[in-house]
Amino acid sequence: MNSKELFSQSSRLFPGGVNSPVRYYDPYPVFMKKGEGSRIYDVDDKSYTDFCLAFGPLILGHSHSEVIKAVRSAVENATSLGAPTENEIKLGNIIQTAVPSVEKMRFTNSGTEATMHALRLARGFTGRNIILKMEGGFHGSHDYALIKSGSGTLTFGVPSSRGIPEEVSRTVVVGQYNNPQSIEEIFKKYGKDIAAVITEPIMGNAGVIKPEKDFLGFLRDITSRNDSLLIFDEVITGFRFGFRCFQDIAGVKPDLTTMGKIIGGGFPIGLFGGRDDIMDKISPVGPVYESGTFSGNYVTMAAGIAALNQLRKMDYSSLEAKSSFFENTLAENMPEKEKFAVSRFGSMFQIFLGIDHPVSYEEVIKADSGKFMRMFHKLLERGVYLAPGQFETNFISFAHSKEELETSALKISETLKETGK
Ligand code: PLP
Repeated sequence: MNSKELFSQSSRLFPGGVNSPVRYYDPYPVFMKKGEGSRIYDVDDKSYTDFCLAFGPLILGHSHSEVIKAVRSAVENATSLGAPTENEIKLGNIIQTAVPSVEKMRFTNSGTEATMHALRLARGFTGRNIILKMEGGFHGSHDYALIKSGSGTLTFGVPSSRGIPEEVSRTVVVGQYNNPQSIEEIFKKYGKDIAAVITEPIMGNAGVIKPEKDFLGFLRDITSRNDSLLIFDEVITGFRFGFRCFQDIAGVKPDLTTMGKIIGGGFPIGLFGGRDDIMDKISPVGPVYESGTFSGNYVTMAAGIAALNQLRKMDYSSLEAKSSFFENTLAENMPEKEKFAVSRFGSMFQIFLGIDHPVSYEEVIKADSGKFMRMFHKLLERGVYLAPGQFETNFISFAHSKEELETSALKISETLKETGK
């Protein structure tokens, strides 16, 4: 069956035919059946250079042999044990050693769960109710995160989802990333009622926006002065630019951190962790409840251990070099009159159409989404698979070769010439 036929079946089962809205695009998404290294294969056996990489977990590329080996060996023993296992300790130790601010942690099954529990913990620990998040910041799809959010919420025009009780919305205030003044004003107004500030250290769900000057340091300072907690959502940035989190590159230590994606080696995972005294408020030792049937799943842990053990040996500077080569090749070959910007940090990048380098959410939302999707479709025809949305992030993996990056950059510039203004 081809994608069109499969879509007509999946639409009868799932809203929009998909199990996550960001996978949908007009008129129907290409159905995939296999991934290998930097390539993804559709149901018609057409292959694409994959820059979506399952929205971020696959920094080693698809189906890394060591991860597959570890998963095969794990399922010989068990699928899920619902009891503590040594595998949890192994993965926990790797993460604790690599990210010093994570003194204690809990594994969850997704980044959404991780931020949901971290925010409840922040409220439980401080005895305060208000959460400050950034406009366009995406922390998953629970009630406290779906207010002026990013990613698919922007693509589909619902940054603040329906269905969230007003009582909840009133406890979430929204500041502007890279705009200290907006944060200061909120602290002046709500001061001692703010339980936590949560932010992605690099915005990755409104394209890619890097932190300016000492914005993260400023957040550390203002939260400390007000006895609020600082939460870095490193679901995308954890282990992406080195064998550590972005906080250690920026030199800013949050109270709590959330992770996901890479640390599960391609299997469903999330994690929240941080200061010992805060984490000890979690049940069963503390009064803040959190649980999960599949949390710390035996097979996921095996995949995560294998992936991180591989990553520990990888030369991240080579990934940076490849990514920078890709960016330069793109820039050199872009049609001159085209207004575009490649926003890149390490192996994360997005191509913004119709705007110059954005430093804020306000600038990002002026980008030409329609034109981006026209480019996306033409690139699909040419065998290049970008994340389907102007407000998503693309990724380069260790498995992408320099030749493939060069070819892809040339295909992108060719496509833009055709897409025109
Ligand atoms: N936080 C960030 C920064 C994310 O990018 C995402 C997902 O893309 C999440 C949280 C939610 O993670 P998940 O999709 O695993 O629930």
